[in-house]
Amino acid sequence: MKRTPQNRAPLDSEKRKEVEPVICYPIDALPLPNMAVYEVARESMALENEVIVPPRDARTFKVKAGYFFRIVSVEGPQVGDLNLWGQGDLWERFYSGKTRALHGTHLSTGDQMWSSFPFMRPMATITYDTLDWYGFDMYGGGVHDVIGTRCDPYTGKLLSGQEYHHCCHSNLIRVLADETGMPGVEAEKYVHDVLNVFMCTGFTHDTHQYFMKASPVRPGDFIEFFAEIDLIGGLSTCPGGDCSSEHSSDQSACYPLKVEIFKPDADLLTGWAPPDPSGYSQSHGR
Ligand SMILES: [Zn+2]
Repeated sequence: MKRTPQNRAPLDSEKRKEVEPVICYPIDALPLPNMAVYEVARESMALENEVIVPPRDARTFKVKAGYFFRIVSVEGPQVGDLNLWGQGDLWERFYSGKTRALHGTHLSTGDQMWSSFPFMRPMATITYDTLDWYGFDMYGGGVHDVIGTRCDPYTGKLLSGQEYHHCCHSNLIRVLADETGMPGVEAEKYVHDVLNVFMCTGFTHDTHQYFMKASPVRPGDFIEFFAEIDLIGGLSTCPGGDCSSEHSSDQSACYPLKVEIFKPDADLLTGWAPPDPSGYSQSHGR
């Protein structure tokens, strides 16, 4: 939005503005996950593995299709930046923009994390969220957004001239390189925009600028996912800590996050199968 418009409003400007919006992608056209199946299966699940992500750092973890995983707050309020890659093909990556278009700015139970083209299928379904009570606050803020990107050293350099090496972007590159054996410059191509787990964000009412505020997360809170396909997860503990003030320095108090991976009784996943990639092929349009 231009701060000072260069053009005078036309005579019918109010009329044009009053036109009611329509939802771009009505959710009732989406094939919805069968949450009742997940609710039964999660009752049976047993902890199989856990990974601690130290402060200002990242870790990868693998989750088989049909398993659950949780991101758990431990020790203190901490925000996490989550990447997801398909184990079969790293180019199948979480597509935050399309997920936002389908599910809105912030995710919670029942929403799905969609993958990039040409795959375009659910990679994970959110099956539990202890912060679902938060909804939207008086500033328009909500939790677990898909509107931010991931904190990165390029923007930090642009805005402040400073170089900081523990942004989520850099943390995720390092651990993906370790996981795959790729050099860092190669791994960087696969790091993508995130689900901002536990982060509380929105757009200001007046200028519609992206804002953050102290996360309401407390130790013991968690968000739980069902893996729809075989996944490699990457989780960075944001150097912003609870993101109450800044996120590209060593100033904020930071805490670890825990990832827990659970195996359910597969017999309880009645009717569930890993989703196929989109049936659309670009060649059909030629
Ligand atoms: Zn970050």
